[in-house]
Amino acid sequence: MRLREITESNELFLLDGSMGVYAIKLGINPKNILSANITDPEVIQSIHKGYVRAGSRGILTNTFNLTEESACQSGYTQREIIKAAVENARKALEGYDDGMVLFDMSPSGFIPDEQGDFPEAKALELYGAQAAYAREYGVDGVFIETIAQAEEMACAIRAVKENTTLPVFASMTFNAGGTSWYGSTIEDFAQVINELKPDCAGINCSIAPRETLPLLKRLSYLTDIPLCAKPNRGRPVLRGSETVYEMTPEEYASDLYEIYRLGIRILGGCCGTDEQCLKLFAQKVMG
Ligand SMILES: [Zn+2]
Repeated sequence: MRLREITESNELFLLDGSMGVYAIKLGINPKNILSANITDPEVIQSIHKGYVRAGSRGILTNTFNLTEESACQSGYTQREIIKAAVENARKALEGYDDGMVLFDMSPSGFIPDEQGDFPEAKALELYGAQAAYAREYGVDGVFIETIAQAEEMACAIRAVKENTTLPVFASMTFNAGGTSWYGSTIEDFAQVINELKPDCAGINCSIAPRETLPLLKRLSYLTDIPLCAKPNRGRPVLRGSETVYEMTPEEYASDLYEIYRLGIRILGGCCGTDEQCLKLFAQKVMG
């Protein structure tokens, strides 16, 4: 399926929901989520498959937080993790010609130096290597997500475009006021995407659908690039040692539907969301 067809159609293209929290629930040690692609492929595949059953056709690889350092800690190389992660997502989409395996590209871990300059060369190198591996192992697109620095987003988009011809989704994360942890605003993000032209741009993580909606509206006034969103299931609360999301799947589905009503057709969930949240949402769209 070409992304162009998706963005030009008025149909819902459902992305997936959370991975990390889910994998932990299924017994994966939080420290081993990346290596689980190799050591416990059936667990990772079962999570992907759950989303596919719920109607998701854009499946993100289990590569969130992948950096040179995290790969090293996992005992594998970035290449090995990416190869296994792509295979796991591809397996879950077997038999679904309308599905896309999307390489999940996430924060580089690099922060601005004392002069306030973002280390662009290092980020370009990291993202360039990841994009090249993802292309080599046959992904259908790259989904850049949970980025909180406009400069970092620019590096990620440039790295993908310089190393591949793959479709690029570019998604940043903001607080409810539209500012990121590093102080980037929706306007800064719009400037980056208008210049570098990813195929799709959006907002994910940090906040609930209700808080994401006005930010998407604000972004829609600033760009013509098709939009996407993957909001969190509200804010988690700590109960004992367990992190719980109090928002019900029904509430999540109906709040996400409000974003759909805005005309945004590429939608999924982030932290705390599960198959149930997305299945109920897809059912709402189908009427
Ligand atoms: Zn998230």
